[in-house]
Amino acid sequence: MNRLTTKIGIVGGGVGGLTLAHCLRRVGFTNVHLYERASQWKDVGAGFSIQCGREVLKYIGLHDRFRDRSHQLTHFKSITKTGETYMELDFNPDIGPWGVSRPAFINLLSSSLPEGVIHKNKTFQSYEDLNDKVKINFADGTHDEVSLLVGCDGVKSKVREQMQRGSESKFTPKYSGHSIFFSISKPNLLEQFPEQRNTIQQIATNGTITGHFPVEDGRFLFYMIHPSTSAPQESWDLEGAKDELAKLSKDAPAPFAALLEHAERIIHLGMYDHLYINEQPWSQGKVVLLGDAAHTFKPHLGQGANQSMEDALCLSRILAQEDTVSKAFDRFEKERKPKVWALVSAAIRVGKLELSTSGFAAFIRKKVLPPIFRYFDVFGKVWARTLADSKKEVEKIQPYTVRD
Ligand SMILES: Cc1cc2nc3c(=O)[nH]c(=O)nc-3n(C[C@H](O)[C@H](O)[C@H](O)COP(=O)(O)OP(=O)(O)OC[C@H]3O[C@@H](n4cnc5c(N)ncnc54)[C@H](O)[C@@H]3O)c2cc1C
Repeated sequence: MNRLTTKIGIVGGGVGGLTLAHCLRRVGFTNVHLYERASQWKDVGAGFSIQCGREVLKYIGLHDRFRDRSHQLTHFKSITKTGETYMELDFNPDIGPWGVSRPAFINLLSSSLPEGVIHKNKTFQSYEDLNDKVKINFADGTHDEVSLLVGCDGVKSKVREQMQRGSESKFTPKYSGHSIFFSISKPNLLEQFPEQRNTIQQIATNGTITGHFPVEDGRFLFYMIHPSTSAPQESWDLEGAKDELAKLSKDAPAPFAALLEHAERIIHLGMYDHLYINEQPWSQGKVVLLGDAAHTFKPHLGQGANQSMEDALCLSRILAQEDTVSKAFDRFEKERKPKVWALVSAAIRVGKLELSTSGFAAFIRKKVLPPIFRYFDVFGKVWARTLADSKKEVEKIQPYTVRD
């Protein structure tokens, strides 16, 4: 595809959309425009762990800055609600994840794009697929026209909704019956809990999971997954969310309560099952989906952000290789779907086991899994695989790269 004349529109400036803008520019697409509904990203969301996504960061030249603004995680600990450890694992530091807050990560990705790429305060409303271009209509009444459009607008994607003609279908991610509080603490708290350095600590008990790990600046990311009959309204009211989380996590062992006391931000999100990814078309005409819009991840394997970054790498290469949009979108879907589905379905299975309230599941979690995880180095194997896949993607895109 002509990299100078093809105008590419991206809806959504989350991890997937921003990474895509970087990768497209690296392979020489000069006319890239990203439309984000937020007027500013500051202080939105809590954080995540970046694992194979580090290979993508190396490719787009942001890895050194990322290392300075994140915290390496090399140790995993499962404990009971009375604080007794029943599984402890060390990770190979070369392949394990790094914790980072979402604002720090979004800032890293967005501040390094040149002026004119990002258009904030632009809420996508609908698209019109005209013969040779796509017209994008925004909520403020303005429009833009692009050669192709990528919907990176997350789990509640409006782009996907329009592809499905506005109606709920089996391809719409369904609320799973669990919600998650994601919180980020104030800085310099790690000094008070030095034993938590480099550590992911997690407690799975009675249908809930609480956990935490350090991110940059001595902050902690902490979370709680809990059953809830309906998906929460996304909540930004710190005090209200704090009270609710305090009630739900009253039995969580130290240092959860102390972290909550020092919470700087809390968000409350529904968790969704996306079960028919294999049958769902990812594109229609000149419009394609990427990241959570195409394949919504549950958080249990920590792969949502990482895989949206790998999608970005893959789509950029294929757009540079193919001469038509339809061939490119077909290949993107064929190459990414099997890998992504393997991980999405594994995360669903892990979640079922971690959140099950049955005595049998508790027995498996505490007695059967720890020796298996240690002996077979399960985390190490999964991460070695995802990392090898990302490295392969980077190798494949190198011949098409025109900018360092
Ligand atoms: C506000 C927010 C906070 C999150 N916090 C966490 C967290 O703390 N921990 C975690 O593990 N995961 C979190 N996630 C999910 C995680 O970021 C994603 O699962 C993963 O990074 C995949 O990224 P994505 O780019 O596909 O989607 P997302 O990261 O969800 O990004 C979607 C982007 O599209 C924008 N958008 C949505 N609709 C429109 C529209 N109509 N017009 C224009 N722009 C639109 C959103 O504002 C957002 O910037 C959060 C997501 C969001 C939106």
